[in-house]
Amino acid sequence: MKNIIFIAAPGAGKGTQAKLISEEYNIPHISTGDLLRDEIATGSKLGEKIKTIIKTGDFVDDETMIKILRKKLSSKECKKGYILDGYPRNTKQAVMYDELMKDLEIDLGIVIFLDIDKSLALKRTLNRIICPKCGASYNLAISALKPKKENICDYCNHELVLREDDNEEVFNKRFDNYISKTKDLIDYYKNLNVLKTIQVSEDKSSNDIFMEIKEYLK
Ligand code: AMP
Repeated sequence: MKNIIFIAAPGAGKGTQAKLISEEYNIPHISTGDLLRDEIATGSKLGEKIKTIIKTGDFVDDETMIKILRKKLSSKECKKGYILDGYPRNTKQAVMYDELMKDLEIDLGIVIFLDIDKSLALKRTLNRIICPKCGASYNLAISALKPKKENICDYCNHELVLREDDNEEVFNKRFDNYISKTKDLIDYYKNLNVLKTIQVSEDKSSNDIFMEIKEYLK
């Protein structure tokens, strides 16, 4: 299986799609947001620093990101392919990733760009609830992504919560941050001829989008 990089705005559903692909092709889903939240959960000094940054909607610095990613991509589970969700987020990170791939003898694979309007992304973000125990994500604005029992995780029965950074103020900052930094990144991968753009819209279900992705991965 090829390695896959996912680029998408907050609220575009990359976490959901990455999970579907991971299950279908049996490859690990590496979410840098999750890796950072794992670091926070350890209670380390670095975790404390990361916590403050994420809370405000800023980006964690590129040096910290590549260190965390190097550790993960060096692990055995990543040898048969992986989905990278949330990295790179700017061209500097893409260049650092190029170097890391050379070092670890990894192929770039393909890059999937999930494109979405800001208003739809906001609506989805404000309706997202997650399981703090197993990390499953649900969305009250999308009928297929609602939990079976109100506010309870389908997988582990834990109570669902809003993510601390899923509020309108932080969303606006994260989205604007994303637009300003990822535009060049899209061009970077377009020029390398590895970019596939998929438009997310209100009339497409998560499954429709997954079908488009699968078609492309064939
Ligand atoms: P996510 O779960 O992908 O929405 O990421 C949550 C937060 O983690 C982001 O708002 C950033 O603060 C941080 N983060 C995740 N990935 C990166 C990255 N590649 N570079 C910098 N910060 C990141």
